[in-house]
Amino acid sequence: MTTIKAIIAQMSNPSPEDIAYVEKAYEFSKKAHEKQNRYSGEPYFIHPAAAALTLAEYGMDATTIAAGLLHDSVEDGCTTREEIEKEFGSELLFIVDGVTKLGTHRYRGAERHAESLRRLLVATASDIRVLIVKLADRKHNMQTLEHVPEHKRRRIALETLEIYAPIADRLGMGKMKSTLEDLAFPYVDPDAAHHTAEVRKLKTQETETGLARVQKEITGELSKKNFATLRTDIRMKGLWSLHQKLKRKHDDISLIHDIAALRIIVPTIEDCYATLGTVHALYKPLPGEFKDYIAFPKPNGYQSLHTTVVTPKAGIVEIQIRTEEMHRGAQFGIASHMSYKQLGKDLEKLEKETQISKFSSLSLSWIRWIIPSLMKVTKKEEDGTRNITKAPAWLSELVEAHSEVVGTKEFVDGLKEDFFSHRVFVFTPEGDVIDLPIHSTPIDFAYAIHSDLGNHIQGAKVNGKLVSFDTELRNGEVVEILSRDSAHPSIKWLEIARTALARRHIRTAIDTKESPQKHRK
Ligand code: MN
Repeated sequence: MTTIKAIIAQMSNPSPEDIAYVEKAYEFSKKAHEKQNRYSGEPYFIHPAAAALTLAEYGMDATTIAAGLLHDSVEDGCTTREEIEKEFGSELLFIVDGVTKLGTHRYRGAERHAESLRRLLVATASDIRVLIVKLADRKHNMQTLEHVPEHKRRRIALETLEIYAPIADRLGMGKMKSTLEDLAFPYVDPDAAHHTAEVRKLKTQETETGLARVQKEITGELSKKNFATLRTDIRMKGLWSLHQKLKRKHDDISLIHDIAALRIIVPTIEDCYATLGTVHALYKPLPGEFKDYIAFPKPNGYQSLHTTVVTPKAGIVEIQIRTEEMHRGAQFGIASHMSYKQLGKDLEKLEKETQISKFSSLSLSWIRWIIPSLMKVTKKEEDGTRNITKAPAWLSELVEAHSEVVGTKEFVDGLKEDFFSHRVFVFTPEGDVIDLPIHSTPIDFAYAIHSDLGNHIQGAKVNGKLVSFDTELRNGEVVEILSRDSAHPSIKWLEIARTALARRHIRTAIDTKESPQKHRK
């Protein structure tokens, strides 16, 4: 059982208020889940406590850690949203609500294209912290998947591989990505997982002693030159990622040089290049294998120097050189780049500057968490001290495409269009997000909420104005359906409806309405 002490020990610079808040959430959650058990028969509370520990390890703020503790307390425990809000505030409730909503989203066929799911999930999560809590939740669920009924395991594991690991990757959370992948792999393809583990084991025994010698040689050489090295370690390639690479190399293990890699962490970027020089002076590098991800970060923001060298003692070895900041960034991604308190303030300011309404900001607010830091990056660029690690590069690219209108409403609109080009995200009057395929109409919207509402549409309002049924909905609009018991679908609706779901319901409704008349004839 994860203790409150263990969680607090992982928090970065918590204030006395932060500690009290997390302690309160810990006790509250323990009580809310008191009578519940996991599939394993263990107390349910071990689950939220484990998720909270992960969040603390990722350097998340007290609100997010407490949300991790409470994320299932409404859905599965015996408490209410009102109580959570009263005790822990609306910010935390928002995260808990978000996690719950993601959890209840049903995807047809886990094998659906990952990209569309990613878009959907990312957009549905209106606060990036919702996704990070969800990832911590998923991690512990995967760690305990063996206790889940067998027929559910493969689906959950596949969903983890196809949805959650790519999200972690997209957010630059490398550690979470490989953890999720390796937890899911044995359930998705047991034979391949076994084979890959065997291959890695053979290679590990072979390389570990050799690598330790190389490690000693390099650190010795660096200290001779008075270079500062913070530390070195040996990292083994993840099983899933090794499996992917083996497939690409036709199962020829001798073509893979990075099963084990030597990692060198140094204080500054200058030290990275100096250390690289020392390494290349010591061992001959393999041509074409050197990669400068510091000058050219990967799309998710990853930075490091990679080189592959031939050593007398351990054969071909991959060496990765990076700063502590890059190392944190590679492990925790977006979570390591954000100071939420500061961003919250930036966000408020941005809201004033751009006059974005409450509704239009809702679906995009997670991106806007990041925008303020991107704006700083863009400003810095003029004096040449650009800091790319501030945000994932795929986001920077989007920003750069709209750099001339940074800070304006057009900028946010442009971002919105680029990002959500295949889906529209509209709102109920209560502010719930409904996502629909592009060109959807109020009829699709009504059926997406409930078939009963769809079957009794009398009229529709968009942003408070009455519209015709064939009006195409656009991002950010607030849609209200007026219903009347005596209203019924007509055949014409079939032409207007864009979604298969709506059409199916309309056909059923027309059929059942017509058949009694046929009987009378
Ligand atoms: Mn959970």
